[in-house]
Amino acid sequence: MSKITHFINGAPFAGDSDRAAEVFNPATGSVEKSVVLASSADVDTAVAAAKSAWPKWSKTPALRRVRILDRFKNILWDRGDQLAKIISAEHGKTHDDALGEVTRGLEVVEFATSAPSFLKGEFSENVGTGVDSYMIRQSLGVCAGITPFNFPVMVPMWMFPIALATGNTFILKPSERDPSASLLLAQWLKEAGLPDGVFNVINGDKVAVDALLHHPDVKAISFVGSTPIAQYIHKTGTANGKRVQALGGAKNHMIIMPDADMDMAASALMGAGFGSAGERCMAISVAVPVTDAVADALIEKLMPQIKALKIGPASDPSSQMGPLITAQHLSKVKGYITSGEEQGAKIVIDGRNFKQDKLGYENGHFIGGTLLDNVTQDMTCYKEEIFGPVLLVVRKGSYQDAIDLIHGHEYANGTAIFTRDGDVARNFSQDIEVGMVGINVPIPVPMAFHSFGGWKSSIFGDHHMHGMEGVRFFTRIKTTTTRWPSGMRTDPEFTMPTLG
Ligand code: NAD
Repeated sequence: MSKITHFINGAPFAGDSDRAAEVFNPATGSVEKSVVLASSADVDTAVAAAKSAWPKWSKTPALRRVRILDRFKNILWDRGDQLAKIISAEHGKTHDDALGEVTRGLEVVEFATSAPSFLKGEFSENVGTGVDSYMIRQSLGVCAGITPFNFPVMVPMWMFPIALATGNTFILKPSERDPSASLLLAQWLKEAGLPDGVFNVINGDKVAVDALLHHPDVKAISFVGSTPIAQYIHKTGTANGKRVQALGGAKNHMIIMPDADMDMAASALMGAGFGSAGERCMAISVAVPVTDAVADALIEKLMPQIKALKIGPASDPSSQMGPLITAQHLSKVKGYITSGEEQGAKIVIDGRNFKQDKLGYENGHFIGGTLLDNVTQDMTCYKEEIFGPVLLVVRKGSYQDAIDLIHGHEYANGTAIFTRDGDVARNFSQDIEVGMVGINVPIPVPMAFHSFGGWKSSIFGDHHMHGMEGVRFFTRIKTTTTRWPSGMRTDPEFTMPTLG
């Protein structure tokens, strides 16, 4: 069985830990690899490598830094397929879905290659007589990224392209469930010309994360994962003096107004609810039809489509939905369906007994698409993030009731409304207290040159990911004021300088 290790200082690194975790193929249910779980001494090695690479990398002209990223981008275009296969093998998502993930990550690299433009800074001449002032953005030093299983390529690439382009060095701690893609990214960065030590991968669990959170040489932590861990990362990281952005979980609602195109809404819900088996932080997990008539019409349209979902391994190109990440997660998702049933929801389509009959995949972590109607705010399946292919229908009588429902939820990552009414759509986008909003767009994931992030318990920290928010997160401002001898006073100045 192959053993996945770390990548430090430009080379694979075995480390000194004897702890390891199993890496499954979710489609077969079998253990295919094992991944070493770093000790804190291994983390120290990675931090030391990143720290010693930083002075030279941070002073490398931005143009040269982004040329390396440009070559990395071309490698990604050429070999994205190889990366997508690794994602599918460990995560389970379909090949096309994995390719889409690679492209969305690659777009952040494209954005990051403009670093010389957005690092330009500001200059003011004659802020006082003979005095000039300029502001520049400088890198922070060693930055770390801690990422979730559901996007093993895209989420790390929300972080490191911008961190590197702006002159930081980086340590990635990917999810231990699908760690292989990170190592390939590290090799390709090296092949593109990245100096050793600038990008490092440390595999591990809480031990590695805690070592990063407490290490005095780690200046910033970028995290994406579940809300309890995001909260912990933010609290511990900031208590240790680090800059932290920590994105958490989600429960995304989609309002369907009576004037919406019902075919379009149903098809949007299929992709947004069941794509990637619902393991997306921007998945729509709650449909909120306004009026019972809309709910009935929508369910009528959804039922045959959910029943017809092609559920299978990524190796079958006709699969539309793959397995869940682990057997443990599968039973958790089934538990939410059972709790919904017990608390009074109507099970319209039940995915719990789905059987995968493709030869060799009978033990995969598959579940069928599930639809629950008459869900209410007090049910566990509504309050908590399920992270599976389970679509809840919460019926509401009016637009305002639907808004109140969304505002009552602790998560506020993404949301959408389907309507033909421009006034309603405009009010929705202005008033809704959610970070990412779609108007007739079910998964409103901002492009790389905008920024990604939710509100409320979906984020801890001030900066969203990528776009200019990413640049702000990975840089700090320095303002220099200069005066040259011809403008200098010779007498001492004891009052607060006003320069005028
Ligand atoms: P997770 O929180 O279990 O793990 C995320 C990372 O934290 C992993 O690298 C993991 O090793 C580490 N970790 C786990 N437990 C830890 C602990 N006790 N102490 C320290 N570190 C720990 O999340 P996951 O299951 O990998 O991913 C799914 C979650 O991520 C969902 O909640 C999903 O909504 C969320 N997510 C959010 C976004 C977003 O942008 N808001 C994007 C993708 C995923």
